[in-house]
Amino acid sequence: MRIETENLDNYRKSCREFLKREIVPDHQAWEENGLMERSFWEKLGKSGLLGISVSPEFGGQGKHDYRFAVILTEELIKAGVTVPGIVAHNDVVASYIFALGTGEQKKRWLPELCLGKRVAAIAMTEPGGGSNTADIKTVAERQGDYYVVNGSKAYITNGFNADLIVVAVKTDEGQQGQGISLLVIERDMPGFSRGEPLKKIGWNGSDTAELVFHDCKVPVTNLLGRENLGNYYFMSAMPRERLSISTVAVASAENILQHTLEYVKERKAFNQSIGSFQYNRFILAQLDTEVKIARIYLDNAIALFNQGLFSLVDAARIKLWTTELQMKVADRCLQLHGGMGYMRDSIAGKNWLNSRAQTIYGGTSEVLQEIISKSMGL
Ligand SMILES: Cc1cc2nc3c(=O)[nH]c(=O)nc-3n(C[C@H](O)[C@H](O)[C@H](O)COP(=O)(O)OP(=O)(O)OC[C@H]3O[C@@H](n4cnc5c(N)ncnc54)[C@H](O)[C@@H]3O)c2cc1C
Repeated sequence: MRIETENLDNYRKSCREFLKREIVPDHQAWEENGLMERSFWEKLGKSGLLGISVSPEFGGQGKHDYRFAVILTEELIKAGVTVPGIVAHNDVVASYIFALGTGEQKKRWLPELCLGKRVAAIAMTEPGGGSNTADIKTVAERQGDYYVVNGSKAYITNGFNADLIVVAVKTDEGQQGQGISLLVIERDMPGFSRGEPLKKIGWNGSDTAELVFHDCKVPVTNLLGRENLGNYYFMSAMPRERLSISTVAVASAENILQHTLEYVKERKAFNQSIGSFQYNRFILAQLDTEVKIARIYLDNAIALFNQGLFSLVDAARIKLWTTELQMKVADRCLQLHGGMGYMRDSIAGKNWLNSRAQTIYGGTSEVLQEIISKSMGL
């Protein structure tokens, strides 16, 4: 156990040093361009921070303990670096391919993903709606050794930069709410195009784009898993994706609370620090308590996940609770910064804008409450 803790501590130290040295100096430029530099991915890969849970046989780090992924996320948040693109590449797509790919597919795709030579994305949401994952309109029709794909996807993280995209497509129109498959669509496949990076209000250091497939020819060898089992695969992968979003939520809430605490001790009004007013002390005491509860809840979820005991409903509950809390903390902390909090480049301002997406992607709070209430027999 002690050795394991030492490993985690060393890993944290190496993430922190790497981000400070290689990433923080460039991050402002990424935010201005709405895009991560391609070179960033290769730097991450060289430092061994990609493919954390992928086996070394396929170029990964073989760290199956989810706490390693948590540490990387926490350090990214502390360094103020845009997170969703890294989570999508590392935590979501690499895990899908590692879990579902054939030996040949893993050899073909994972080493380059782990080295950051190729960037990954996952595309489920469509312009017509994202909440109902069973209602996918992008169609893939089998023609000999190819699928011919027609349709489009919306708001895809890394969509502009991605070389390899796991795309949810409908392969059997006849199956009510089913008949969905996962195809890996690669850069330069004929019939695949994408829009410019979308102008978001937050998380500006990673790109989000629309993808269009017009008679796009995808070899049958790019089918991930079995045909028509896509919905089952989403359900299996969702706990991990939602746990990673909850990790972002808790780490962000802790980080902005600490930052705000320092600010309110320094900033003065009516000849006293603003943190010394009873009203503000009580707000901070309440936030501190709630964030500590969230940390315990998250640690418990991570332990369950590591034991294979973390369910889809557990994931819905923790994502709902931690992301809603994150928004509340972000809002109260911005208020405590006064006018400074409303400045776009202030830490409190950016944190507030970033927090807003968290209750939307990976399942909206409303959809999560549908899942939770169904599990209660309602
Ligand atoms: C920054 C960002 C990054 C993203 N990255 C990705 C990505 O990488 N890949 C990807 O596939 N998608 C991505 N998305 C899309 C995201 O997953 C969807 O926006 C989300 O699932 C909601 O879908 P929608 O936007 O179509 O909203 P809609 O489905 O149109 O929903 C609109 C509103 O209606 C509510 N609603 C829907 N159904 C119900 C119901 N049954 N009861 C009550 N209310 C309901 C929703 O909760 C929401 O409030 C991203 C989005 C953002 C903002």
